[in-house]
Amino acid sequence: MYRTNTCGELRLGNAGMEVTLSGWVQASRDLGGMTFIDLRDRYGITQLVFNMEEDADLCMRARKLGREFVIQVTGSVRERTSKNPNRPTGDVEIVVSNLQTLNASNVPPFTIENETDGGEELRMKYRYLDIRRNPVQEKIIFRSKVALETRKYLSASNFIEVETPCLIKSTPEGARDFIVPSRINAGQFYALPQSPQTFKQLLMVAGMDRYFQIVKCFRDEDLRADRQPEFTQIDCEMAFVTREDILQTFEGLTQHLFKSILHLDLGTFPRMSYDDAMQRYGSDKPDIRFGMEFVELNDLAKDKGFAVFDDAELVVGICVPDQAEAYSNKQLNDLVEWVKRPQIGAKGMVNVKFLADGSIKSSVGKFYTDEQLKEWGHKAGAGANDMLLILSGETDKVRKQLNELRLEMGNRLGLRDPKVYKPLWVVDFALLEWDEEAQRFHAMHHPFTSPKATDIERMFSGDHETMKSLRADAYDLVINGVEIGGGSIRIHDRKLQEKNFKLLGFTPEEAENQFGFLLGAFEYGAPPHGGIALGFDRLCAMMKGETSIRDFIAFPKNNMGKDVMIDAPSPIDPEQLKELSLKLDVRP
Ligand code: ASP
Repeated sequence: MYRTNTCGELRLGNAGMEVTLSGWVQASRDLGGMTFIDLRDRYGITQLVFNMEEDADLCMRARKLGREFVIQVTGSVRERTSKNPNRPTGDVEIVVSNLQTLNASNVPPFTIENETDGGEELRMKYRYLDIRRNPVQEKIIFRSKVALETRKYLSASNFIEVETPCLIKSTPEGARDFIVPSRINAGQFYALPQSPQTFKQLLMVAGMDRYFQIVKCFRDEDLRADRQPEFTQIDCEMAFVTREDILQTFEGLTQHLFKSILHLDLGTFPRMSYDDAMQRYGSDKPDIRFGMEFVELNDLAKDKGFAVFDDAELVVGICVPDQAEAYSNKQLNDLVEWVKRPQIGAKGMVNVKFLADGSIKSSVGKFYTDEQLKEWGHKAGAGANDMLLILSGETDKVRKQLNELRLEMGNRLGLRDPKVYKPLWVVDFALLEWDEEAQRFHAMHHPFTSPKATDIERMFSGDHETMKSLRADAYDLVINGVEIGGGSIRIHDRKLQEKNFKLLGFTPEEAENQFGFLLGAFEYGAPPHGGIALGFDRLCAMMKGETSIRDFIAFPKNNMGKDVMIDAPSPIDPEQLKELSLKLDVRP
């Protein structure tokens, strides 16, 4: 028997017991005649003590143990004289009578403690050592809890967990597919799923009624910070439902996860249309933990002789509370430089300060009277000591820029507390997005998304401009400005799906070729259906108040999409290539 107890469970009540523990040597200290070892396993750390006077041989052997050696000890539990209140086991120690080394260890390349000296790359190379560290381990255990509670909630709501295949035909979700060559079908390829989208819809045709899966998805995208080429979704689909049913069900799931794991009540989630979100926050995933909503000032600021505003399509600002007195000219100038950086791309920024004594100071004071500026303040709801920051330009661009500025001000003023959670449903997205450069439509969500029932008629009869105005029954779940998930009511009618493919630029042959199986299934009694997928890695990170998803994934890839521990991707044997009927153009 390797152990009678874990390293996390012994307490004062166990004093006098004879126990056997196994674990890793976290640290050891020699103090005169005594040697102390901290023994660690997943459950905690227990102090071991060896006494030179009582057993010199045993004590000498203990002194030779290095960090991360795996040992087994037997001894009796004793109350400590100097207790460690920071450790659950801190009241006791084990007086060791028997020590066995189960395995030696090289000196670890970084310290295995909460704060480590190991850089990212080194930690990833020795991920198995990194996972021994509490902060990483906690996140992985947390993830397991979220998965378990998800399964509990969805099972209790009649969802069935079904596995869908990983070797499939490509599903267009807007990203590139990872491709797997088929050996027995030379020259042919599978794709790894970007999501189980078509399969879950087929499960609805198959009468499964409610499906879910905690599933790996693969997208070969250029890697931005915190995107992983393989990631996990809580993927769901329901038959005979309206949008309302889906929002209720997944609002319920989200509430359940926060309640059962974090003991937090999220309350009812507000909803906002896509158009409203863009107008009020310049973003389809607004962070509503704080205010500073956009105030459009065209009617008050244009045609008063200030050319920059006169030439702009949109003049729009935010009202920053309580900062008029505090914000110096230097800080304002810095902010102007900040919005002018290429990442933001604004040409400049106008400010209006409503000072505590009732006076007004503005960078455009020459062009506008105090009376006029007061009207701006009135429209923005600005009080004494508030400050307007105003950008202008083309509508879409200036909204994006002001969104960045609003978030930056939120950060600077400490209004984005990671422990405060503000969920939001963004609804009524456009069905299609016109790509001016490529002169074609893209599906705003994906090609299987249904237009709103009230828009179907217009979709069949309307002209090009009409297509731009079609609304979809699509929705996103946003928490604290992060898109946690999205979904839609699907098309379940062959003719409507064909029409959508056509608008998206598929010829009938291409549509048949790629999606014949789905179009065919729609002819065998496809029920009305819809669903959603939540980004599981991101949800876990968000719940823990973290922005990085990396440590919520046991074995993540780096920014180049590499696993540096196992060295993947890597070249393959010429023999393997031949077997797969592949010839390379590049030498790796
Ligand atoms: N398949 C979609 C996605 O991965 C989610 C959905 O529409 O259910 O974003």
